Amino acid sequence: MSRYISTRGETPPQSFADVLLAGLAPDGGLFLPETWPQIGADEIADFAKRPYVEVAYAILKRFVGNSFSDAELRAEIDAAYADFGNPEIAPLVELGPRLFLLELFHGPTLAFKDIALQVLGRLFAGALKKRGGRATIVAATSGDTGSAAIAALGGLENIELFVLHPKGRISEVQRRQMTTSPHKNVHNIALEGTFDDAQAIVKALFADKDFSRRIGLTAVNSINFARIAAQSVYYFTAAAQLGAAPVFVVPTGNFGNVFAGEAAMRMGLAIEKLVVATNANDIVTRALNEGVYSAGTVKTTLSPSMDIQVASNFERTLFEACGRDAAWLLEAMAVFTRDKKLVLPETVRSALSERYGARACNDDRTLATIAALHRSGGKLVDPHTAVALATAEEVKQEAKGPVVVLSTAHPAKFPEAVGRVAGIVPPLPPRLDGLYEKAERISVLGRDLAIVRDFIATRSYPHGR
Ligand SMILES: *Cc1c(COP(=O)(O)O)cnc(C)c1O
Repeated sequence: MSRYISTRGETPPQSFADVLLAGLAPDGGLFLPETWPQIGADEIADFAKRPYVEVAYAILKRFVGNSFSDAELRAEIDAAYADFGNPEIAPLVELGPRLFLLELFHGPTLAFKDIALQVLGRLFAGALKKRGGRATIVAATSGDTGSAAIAALGGLENIELFVLHPKGRISEVQRRQMTTSPHKNVHNIALEGTFDDAQAIVKALFADKDFSRRIGLTAVNSINFARIAAQSVYYFTAAAQLGAAPVFVVPTGNFGNVFAGEAAMRMGLAIEKLVVATNANDIVTRALNEGVYSAGTVKTTLSPSMDIQVASNFERTLFEACGRDAAWLLEAMAVFTRDKKLVLPETVRSALSERYGARACNDDRTLATIAALHRSGGKLVDPHTAVALATAEEVKQEAKGPVVVLSTAHPAKFPEAVGRVAGIVPPLPPRLDGLYEKAERISVLGRDLAIVRDFIATRSYPHGR
């Protein structure tokens, strides 16, 4: 029980602690539970009456196995959510008839990444302490994972954290949240390239087995299964509160958040549909609607955290959709790596379409959606949420149940876009006071594997010995 296998089928089953500390499987695949834990309808209905931390504990307990005691897990979860700006953690806000926002941005860095990373950071540090040794965490970020990882891991012992963001392609608030960290174990790299370039370099560092072993390389981006597990929790709390099977509309980049919805479904939660909402970077939308997964070049949009062409977690959903046929998946991923294109077989397409819908929304509609919502009642949403809200208005016509839009960032995190149409700049919450005055620490590096590897090697090895 509570063992994890790789989507590529060439890694023996691992414990939760192994998966947490490793991030990516050694065969290059992504970890998934050998079998999905099951949660019954009565227990789910009861979640409606319980505080968020209790639901999180009930769900995560089923994933951690023997890696943490019940008391340890409970304490880490309580600590993880103690500092959120809203006691409900993930409040459900009614926007109109059958339309809700699930606000996931009340954590320390104002994006939904905090919900998983606050737990993951604490569990990671705990597991590392039990095992001994040091870890070097390298994360590629399109803006929000980096700041959430820094908020979760900054200042922790025996951990060195390197965050690569695409230079000039994230918002100023996003950048400053990362570069003003006072912690010595935090290293910000502005890469001269796109998010996909950053992600490709991180993958290549992992593929360099000598290097990755020497520095204890690991990943906390959404390829780390612990994040998926923690993100599945708010699907349960939202559906339980509504008492009906909702349609969830999820602003999507790397497919981690929406895959957490699939995880919830596979654990027994009734969901009418998971609707993927993308910006002009619509690789996943095209894959789901047309059956061809093919990467183009990244376009810069007003929702930068979704400016991605290769969606890592799509591999997880493909693995499930093909009936967990690791041999097929291994081959399919090799084809995709070689051709940047994969034609999905009919069986996989139909398995996906039972569960998923998908639509894209361009910048003009994103802005129009922010403006219209603001005009109709004064509420502001960030551009990522707006992409999903525009989509939700379309899918609501066909939906039987309530439609829930995952609101993934606080509008103040993207003041440029929001201010442009709403005419006012949303104020930063008090917890970010002084963000524009603090000194930044940042290294600009060329888009080159060797340069990045050397930068990391010289900073990770000697420190703290
Ligand atoms: C990361 C992020 C997304 C995309 O989530 P994925 O799990 O990568 O699909 C959407 N919105 C915001 C604000 C984000 O930070």
